[in-house]
Amino acid sequence: MRIRVVGGKCQGHNRCYTIAPELFDVDDLGNAFERLGGVVPADLYDKARLAIDNCPEYAIEVVEE
Ligand code: SF4
Repeated sequence: MRIRVVGGKCQGHNRCYTIAPELFDVDDLGNAFERLGGVVPADLYDKARLAIDNCPEYAIEVVEE
């Protein structure tokens, strides 16, 4: 699975980072970006799904299943 944070949609709530710090980080402005080039290791699929479902801005996209 590969994911990405859509910059224009992210409002910096940091829920994704709280749920899955392995997969997300935040920049100096508080906006999230994907770690690991967006590639989600198999053992973190559930966390990725949880982060996607909990993003209030629908800013996290699945690029590749
Ligand atoms: S939860 Fe969504 S809006 Fe909040 S920081 Fe993460 S990607 Fe951005």
